[in-house]
Amino acid sequence: MTPRSTMKERASAALRDEFLRRAVKTTTDKLFLGRRLAQQSYEDWERLRDRGRAIRAHVIDNLDFYLGRLTDRVRANGGQVHLCREAADVVRVVTEIAARRGARSVIKSKSMVSEEVRLNRALEEIGVRAVETDLGEYIVQLAGEMPSHIIGPAIHKNRQQIAELFSREAGRPVAPDTESLAAFARRRLREEFLRADIGITGCNFAVAETGSVCLFTNEGNGRMVTSLPPVHIAVMGMERIVPTLEDLEVMMHLLPRSGTGQKLTSYVTIVSGPRREGESDGPEEFHLVIVDNGRSRLLRDPRFREALYCIRCGACLNVCPVYRQIGGHAYGWVYPGPIGAVITPLLQDDLDRWGDLPFASTLCAACSEACPVKIPLHDLLVRHRARYVAAGKAGMAERAAFRAFRRVFGAAKKYKVAVGAAEKLLRLWVRDGHMAPRVPGLKGWTDSRDFPALARRRFRDLWPELEKESPGQKGGKAHG
Ligand code: SF4
Repeated sequence: MTPRSTMKERASAALRDEFLRRAVKTTTDKLFLGRRLAQQSYEDWERLRDRGRAIRAHVIDNLDFYLGRLTDRVRANGGQVHLCREAADVVRVVTEIAARRGARSVIKSKSMVSEEVRLNRALEEIGVRAVETDLGEYIVQLAGEMPSHIIGPAIHKNRQQIAELFSREAGRPVAPDTESLAAFARRRLREEFLRADIGITGCNFAVAETGSVCLFTNEGNGRMVTSLPPVHIAVMGMERIVPTLEDLEVMMHLLPRSGTGQKLTSYVTIVSGPRREGESDGPEEFHLVIVDNGRSRLLRDPRFREALYCIRCGACLNVCPVYRQIGGHAYGWVYPGPIGAVITPLLQDDLDRWGDLPFASTLCAACSEACPVKIPLHDLLVRHRARYVAAGKAGMAERAAFRAFRRVFGAAKKYKVAVGAAEKLLRLWVRDGHMAPRVPGLKGWTDSRDFPALARRRFRDLWPELEKESPGQKGGKAHG
């Protein structure tokens, strides 16, 4: 796929990849079931979701205040804060630190924001080797790909494919069994940890009251990245703040349960500035890079502001019937699935290139139900579609079809005539009580699924009889 390909082209390519579809389905099923069980084990999950949502809403409504408080506390702890409006500012800040420290190698723990700004490429351009240490991220880095899932970046790869990548890296064959693969990654990454000049992490949450950065990892790599190299740079989206440690505790329940189905992430690391006198480990320098990169656009727009509540758990991906068929790469950028379809057109501020993403949804609302902070993702997708149409981006045929649809559905007489004619036409394709395959005009739909046979009598013709049977229950409640 070319970088300028459309969502439809990328999705079509993904649909032809049987392996990809199986792999994505298997993993998302597992994550989905894990989430259900982990949520059931929490006494009042709905109340917890409400608390999580309230915390996120409060922070986003008072973001200026909390950004100020966080900045003050980090500086008081001895750290340095860099506020970056654009991707280029992030790159400049990080590469300047690397140049000043004479860095040759950087180790990273998972950071979606650094993917957004293409930090690895920028570091490599100035001769600094950047190595991902989250196992999934390491795999996709070796493959030269983007993550395909927020939580499991390499869910589209099987062991054989990973073994090929590791063998190429090792210069010798690495067996495709889990033990050999894990052993290779552990050995290789350990060398990288020990020689790194700078550690770069993301930030699951920053705690405003203490000026701390909190990382959730399952491999312990976050701890090594934040404690071994002499410099730690944490890169965070400007909305990823919680006011207090007590609020962080709510997120500690919500995020792992929704993301991986765990009651608690294996390693929760809280970093509050550089190493202090008397401490045996930790970096000499701590930098917090706070990134806007389009988030202000969301903040200013009441239609999409709620997307900033997102805690990047990935639950909406696992339940989305579209994501489950096409995987993450079809979305074309860093953030896949329903949340990606909502935020990408806004963060990238390019309706021509990304305006088709919100159409990759059935609007079934499974994403909104799964979201731990109750973002109404399906509503946001509809608002995007309205924005796209209002900007005159819909095709001529589509606009004409919807104009006709409005005229027909807006007048009872026209509606009756149109439905009657459509019924007569469709009856021509009924064979032995079934619809024939490939109904003209519906080919795209009936190519891969059955069109149900038309009932002998229409519901609206049955309605008066049904009303007579239950005279007391008007308004459709009895049969609706
Ligand atoms: S939108 Fe909700 S479900 Fe999706 S990643 Fe964000 S927090 Fe998780």
